[in-house]
Amino acid sequence: MVRNAPGPRGAVAGRARRPVPRRVATISLHTSPLEQPGSGDAGGMNVYIVEVAKRLAERGVAVDVFTRATRVDQPPEVEMAPGVTVRHIAAGPFGALDKNALARHLCPFVFGVLQTEARHEPGHYDLVHGHYWLSGRAGMAAAQRWGVPLVQSMHTLARVKNAALAQGDVPEPEARVRGEDQLVRAADHLVANTAEEARQLVRHYDADPGRVSTVPPGVDLDVFTPGSRAAALRRIGLAADTELLLFVGRVQRLKAPDVLLRATAALLRRDPELRGRLAVAVVGGLSGGDVAEPRRLADLARSLGIADLVRMEPPRSRAELAYYYRAAAATVVPSHSESFGLVAVESQACGTPVVAARVGGLPTAVADGTSGVLIDGHDPEDYARVLHRMIRHRSWREALGAAGVRHAAGLSWSATVDGLLDVYHGTLSGPRLPIAASQ
Ligand code: UDP
Repeated sequence: MVRNAPGPRGAVAGRARRPVPRRVATISLHTSPLEQPGSGDAGGMNVYIVEVAKRLAERGVAVDVFTRATRVDQPPEVEMAPGVTVRHIAAGPFGALDKNALARHLCPFVFGVLQTEARHEPGHYDLVHGHYWLSGRAGMAAAQRWGVPLVQSMHTLARVKNAALAQGDVPEPEARVRGEDQLVRAADHLVANTAEEARQLVRHYDADPGRVSTVPPGVDLDVFTPGSRAAALRRIGLAADTELLLFVGRVQRLKAPDVLLRATAALLRRDPELRGRLAVAVVGGLSGGDVAEPRRLADLARSLGIADLVRMEPPRSRAELAYYYRAAAATVVPSHSESFGLVAVESQACGTPVVAARVGGLPTAVADGTSGVLIDGHDPEDYARVLHRMIRHRSWREALGAAGVRHAAGLSWSATVDGLLDVYHGTLSGPRLPIAASQ
């Protein structure tokens, strides 16, 4: 594959004389960093973009986040934090659109991004960073037009998702698979959340391993801190002796909250005495096409005879979530596919062990046997066995919790930004791919 000679981009930093981007165009087409994560299309990626953009700006790299306008009253630009501007681009009708329908509105979106840049002197952006494949497709056009590198984070991959579908779930469309294929060839560099995702890019998309870097996401160690369990239980309205099993995230089949409900029923069969003090909280809202999922979950709780124990909670702010994590005996992450699993790390940072499926990024997010337990598959009996032990063996649970705090301490957003800056430096100083020729 032909590579271009490096072009002089960005400012040259300090003693190391390494090029530093002065301004990055971050593309988040299908979901805005201003949205509350935990429902619709807003989740871990939104948290990632917010946390990284704030910290890049603190280090002198201005960030413009381009996202599709979804409401008529949205101002064209919003200062999200000093040095971070969210730019709303009109593309397609206002209102939420299914992700799969968004590919049709790529052209007006790209036009809006290019128009923004055209209001400035040439060379306004030094680098484009796309998040999720749709943004990457828009990023390809912008990076090519501006002659700057394209860095791409996929977050999730269609081929990987389709290989691990929950029963009854709808596969990702072929257009996405093709789009991801083209993007993998066109991006100057790919950022994977975990070594497993990096391997998946190489295995399933034939990515050049030399152009893939692993940069793990982090956790806000100021917000997610350990604290009194009794106080946290009180804060969320539960009695001090409650054993709370927690699910946090979008309520969708892929995340399998049903496994937690079935495991709760199995746990009560093992140890009926727990019924008086067991509770389950499912914190999060509707997601994309899975509109029926919360109702299905409520029906399931009724049919399992545990409806009185289950609280379905709307999405909570991150500060409020910290109380849920601290209150819980365990956070359960039984996903069928999970690119990283921020929830698992947040829970550990609050000192609460995690019981998770051994899929995707979760083996990185959770230190198996040390800060939590990973389970092969989705058999509720397996989850019930581990949860039972955690509830009945307080000292084991406390040891896992303490180890979780230490494990999470190694995953700060600041380290994520260090890793991303290395990638940015590398792409700005290295040879560039001719995007048009690489498709
Ligand atoms: N989240 C939140 N409020 C909620 C539910 C979830 O802020 O009510 C956040 C949660 O703290 C986490 C993110 O949404 O940071 C979900 O990220 P994760 O990687 O676990 O899952 P994803 O959404 O990427 O599939």
